[in-house]
Amino acid sequence: MISLPYESYRFEMKPLLYHYNSLEPYIDAKTIYIHYEINLQTYLDNLNGILSNYPSLQSWNLDQLVKNYSQLPIEIQSFVRNNAGGVYNHNLYFSLMTPNLVGVPVGNLGNRLLEEFGSYSNFISQFKISALDRFGSGYVWLVTNDSKELSIISTANQDTPLPMNLYPILVVDVWEHAYYLKHINRRIDYLDDWFNVIDWNRAEELFNSI
Ligand code: MN
Repeated sequence: MISLPYESYRFEMKPLLYHYNSLEPYIDAKTIYIHYEINLQTYLDNLNGILSNYPSLQSWNLDQLVKNYSQLPIEIQSFVRNNAGGVYNHNLYFSLMTPNLVGVPVGNLGNRLLEEFGSYSNFISQFKISALDRFGSGYVWLVTNDSKELSIISTANQDTPLPMNLYPILVVDVWEHAYYLKHINRRIDYLDDWFNVIDWNRAEELFNSI
């Protein structure tokens, strides 16, 4: 199981590891500011708010909540699915970008990716296809399973790969709020920019933790 340093209720914001403008010119400062300070904070506040009424769930960590939301009381399943997912997904997304150019996949992950996709450019092509095929809001992921086989999937809204017993290695947010200020409706341009700020060292850490 992936080990991320998530506590349980009361959840707190994870600090950004870079400044709002650090990812320019690829991702603009205003987008990062709004996305982190407003969008993510809202999901976090919503999650803490609902859990404040359910003491029995306050020991659950974020992984447990997003993976097992279907075991929660029926009246809060959708709310937790959306808001715990919103926290989980954004924490991963922000932590997998860096202003320190890493360029291409490294280490065990880099080797595995070449084995499964043939080349980095082929991986990028398949990732873009999946991202453009995601209708409406959601995420595109590089995931692995217990056998450390890689695949590219996309999820709608704030859903995560965890209920499918898949573990995230890389994720990009393709909700329009992730790119609309700079890239308007051009999701493909946003993706081209995002490929420049992927933290492949962090992705490698996630891959090795499985
Ligand atoms: Mn988002």
